[in-house]
Amino acid sequence: MKRLRATLDRIDRKGYGAYKDLQGSYDFDEFSLTIDKVQRDPFAPPSLIRIRTKDNRFDPALFGNPARRMAFEDFLTRCVDRAVRRVVRGNRGSGGSGQVEIQRPTQVVLPRTSMVAEDDHIEARMAVGLPARGRTVDARAAKTVLLDELPKVVGAALVPVGVDEEAARWHIETVEDAEHLRGMLSELGLVAFVADGAILPRESGASDRPLRDGAVPFESPEELRVSVDLPNQGRVTGMGIPEGVTLIAGGGFHGKSTLLEALSWGVYDHLPGDGRELVVAREDAVKIRAEDGRSVAGVDISGSIGELPGGKSTENFSTPNASGSTSQAANIAEALEIGTSLLLVDEDTSATNFMIRDERMRELVKMEPISPFIDLVRPLHRASGVSTIVVVGGVGDYLDVADRVILMENYEPHDATERAREVRERFPTPATSEKEMPPPRKRRVRASSIDLRRGKRETARGRGLHTIELGRERVDLAYVEQLAESGQTEAIARIIGEFAGSRGDGEVKRIATAALASISKNGLDSLGNFRGHPGEMSLPRPQEIAAAINRIRSLKASATG
Ligand code: ADP
Ligand code: MG
Repeated sequence: MKRLRATLDRIDRKGYGAYKDLQGSYDFDEFSLTIDKVQRDPFAPPSLIRIRTKDNRFDPALFGNPARRMAFEDFLTRCVDRAVRRVVRGNRGSGGSGQVEIQRPTQVVLPRTSMVAEDDHIEARMAVGLPARGRTVDARAAKTVLLDELPKVVGAALVPVGVDEEAARWHIETVEDAEHLRGMLSELGLVAFVADGAILPRESGASDRPLRDGAVPFESPEELRVSVDLPNQGRVTGMGIPEGVTLIAGGGFHGKSTLLEALSWGVYDHLPGDGRELVVAREDAVKIRAEDGRSVAGVDISGSIGELPGGKSTENFSTPNASGSTSQAANIAEALEIGTSLLLVDEDTSATNFMIRDERMRELVKMEPISPFIDLVRPLHRASGVSTIVVVGGVGDYLDVADRVILMENYEPHDATERAREVRERFPTPATSEKEMPPPRKRRVRASSIDLRRGKRETARGRGLHTIELGRERVDLAYVEQLAESGQTEAIARIIGEFAGSRGDGEVKRIATAALASISKNGLDSLGNFRGHPGEMSLPRPQEIAAAINRIRSLKASATG
């Protein structure tokens, strides 16, 4: 601490580059501060620091198993984030002077690189904008940030006296219950569960927080209600959605999409107060949508689309510009390729001609290569064990293929399976022409088709939530709907970077699972070469890793076996 003060006094008012002298570790009373990487100027990305406490005096039960440890680390990241907002004034000069940051957590709880809780210490990885006056060192402001504000943050967020242990326990137990519940789904023959009392609607289209005013809590229809025993909360009841084909029907604006959305986020754990703490789906569930304009590389979409005009093959389908229906077909084939047991489909975001074709069109248009999804959902379940939950407002034909119908009325779900049967008998439709849907043919993607060069450097990095920069290419992930936070995007970018560097080729599934196996062994920290600390990463699912690889425009693939 004395040494830090002395160095700051020495470099005061010098050119900003003098801050480089700060690199190193410093001993404080309760913790050590390591300045890993010093920014080039006040406007550059902030400097990277680590704070490590000298012991870990929290109740060991808070981090006694891997799920708890992960949740505890998530909790501490949120504590630091809150403490920073309270304690740090920020804005102490030009550029990012005086700003202190930790990875910004979202409504989901994920393994992240921002925090490590070990048995004998806690380490927070953060970023600090070292203060400048113009482009010179402002030592006085730097002292305030590093010697006054940072210790206050530590006192409020990383040691037991500052932290509300009851809240921590609640956080951890909530996550543990959700994981347990998700783990039970298979055994119960369910693909998803929505607890009674859950709050599904969000604050707005732009916010993932719960709707505050007028949210109608979820209440399961009697017919679908199941009760489960959770390790912390004990007995909980809610709606269980069984395997098979489930329809969510209802009038416009009655909460159909909101329910499906909540299910699609059910692959992740949520923090207490989110409203969706006990809304879970199979961990490999994939939301499928149309995405016209995306590129596709050698994907077998022949299961849903026959021969295209000009004799274009659909067993090895490539295009720089997919249509609504071919993109949706590719999204499904790729989901099956990486592995999924549950598809979530919303009419709102689907291509109409992919969903359905009515009798008149079947008569008029003879040369239709598309087998509508309605002909595939049942075979998909029968042959591959893949369940589907589909939201429909307009297309009644889906009643024919549904095992179960959930009718949304004023945000209240009803079991309308019986009613649907009656309707079906009164208004019969021609039998659907079910079609077998074999799993897509295997393919290998080529690492050499990914070019990381950008000028003299090689880049593979995340740019916010929805973009990955690979060399000169920007991979667009705007329609990858289950990407939860930018830390996942960053991690995926580094995984792709490593694959591109390997110069080999491989199946997308193998690339993703190998990367995740290595992460589970060596930690997220092991991803990529970084100076100092690994920055801001969160754990992605294999499904999103695959989705990103599959959207690389330069990607080339070849068939195997
Ligand atoms: P649909 O897909 O049936 O047309 P949405 O799911 O888009 O309907 O919901 C319509 C509106 O109702 C949205 O603004 C949503 O936030 C709101 N909403 C959905 N569920 C609830 C609920 N349980 N309580 C209050 N508002 C809700
Ligand atoms: Mg809708």
